Amino acid sequence: MEPLHQFDNFETNAIRIQNERGEREHSTPIYFTSSFVFEDAEQARAMFADEIPGNIYTRFSNPNNNELVEKLCALEGTEDGIATASGMAAMFVSMASLLRSGDHVLASRSLFGSTHQILTVLLPRWGITHTYVDITNPDEWESNIQPNTKMIFVETPSNPALDVIDLEWLGKLARKHNVILNVDNCFATPYLQNPAKYGAHLVTHSATKFIDGQGRTIGGAILGTKELIKEVRFFARHTGPSLSPFNAWILSKSLETLAVRMERHCQSALAIATRLQGNPSITTVKYPFLASHPQHDLARRQMRLGGGVVTFELKGGIEQGRKFLNALQMLSHTANLGDTRTIATHPASTTHSKLKEEERMAVGITPGLIRVSVGLEHVDDIFRDIEQAIEASR
Ligand SMILES: *Cc1c(COP(=O)(O)O)cnc(C)c1O
Repeated sequence: MEPLHQFDNFETNAIRIQNERGEREHSTPIYFTSSFVFEDAEQARAMFADEIPGNIYTRFSNPNNNELVEKLCALEGTEDGIATASGMAAMFVSMASLLRSGDHVLASRSLFGSTHQILTVLLPRWGITHTYVDITNPDEWESNIQPNTKMIFVETPSNPALDVIDLEWLGKLARKHNVILNVDNCFATPYLQNPAKYGAHLVTHSATKFIDGQGRTIGGAILGTKELIKEVRFFARHTGPSLSPFNAWILSKSLETLAVRMERHCQSALAIATRLQGNPSITTVKYPFLASHPQHDLARRQMRLGGGVVTFELKGGIEQGRKFLNALQMLSHTANLGDTRTIATHPASTTHSKLKEEERMAVGITPGLIRVSVGLEHVDDIFRDIEQAIEASR
């Protein structure tokens, strides 16, 4: 899986890394085949013995998946990786393939809802425990590392609290204690932040969000060091969370426009966050590149831009939150994010509804919290709809 070419710049790698192909087609074709033909008995033996590279069966690898992974590795600065059927397959496989019964995970408290379910409900069935720590208390991290701690798992910026964690500090902590640092980089995308640069051993993605960017497919990826991905690949090959070649093709095409899309998502998100700050119906607006964000300086150091998601709290709490969503005329009320279309979500009643009330409050999901994934419509039209819905919800 050696990339054909690697260029100096993000945009060029995202567009020009392509698989070698037999025909002269300009766009990569979709390899809709479940298996690949061996030239002879010796080639089949050597491929199964991992003596020579090559595609055998699409559950193991496929040219479309390989192209997507090669691009993602170039964009994240990682050695190797696999594509998965969803972001959650990536999160689960990155943990299940490397952890054993008796191991312990140290995790940031503010995590995607299903990741929280994996840590609190599923992994304990196999004797894998966890401790949650707060980003506001760095000392708590080191003191909670146990002799059996094998992995640190974080999300930055987190969904939907938009907490930002210092990856340079965490990379050093992980090295010092010889534990695997696994970073869910979904909100930042490889364009805004590269955790591997700071020493993350694994970078996990839900490609469903900004990487697809157009609300069409579910997908994910696990990227990291050759050594760890070898184990991850073994687990995935035999358990089958592989991505469909069709979805891999879509996601590889999507990466070609990731840089320009993220520039606009972030530019509009910052403009909207800034304008909302003055609104008398809102108690707090949170966005990593606003001076009022608790980790603002860190965000500016660590991220190229502030990301595409803005959150705010309506003064009237849950009732005003409901009225706001019902008053929207253009924004979509849906559970996804990272789309060309601007999306408003009410995390307390949807994505994080499985959490207990105290758990939600502990990660900043207040009853009136609205999450807006700022899309690529004209910023004035996005702002106008948000403003009229706030007005109507008063
Ligand atoms: C959506 C999301 C996931 C899960 O990804 P799917 O593709 O929906 O399985 C994981 N982590 C974060 C931060 C997400 O936003």
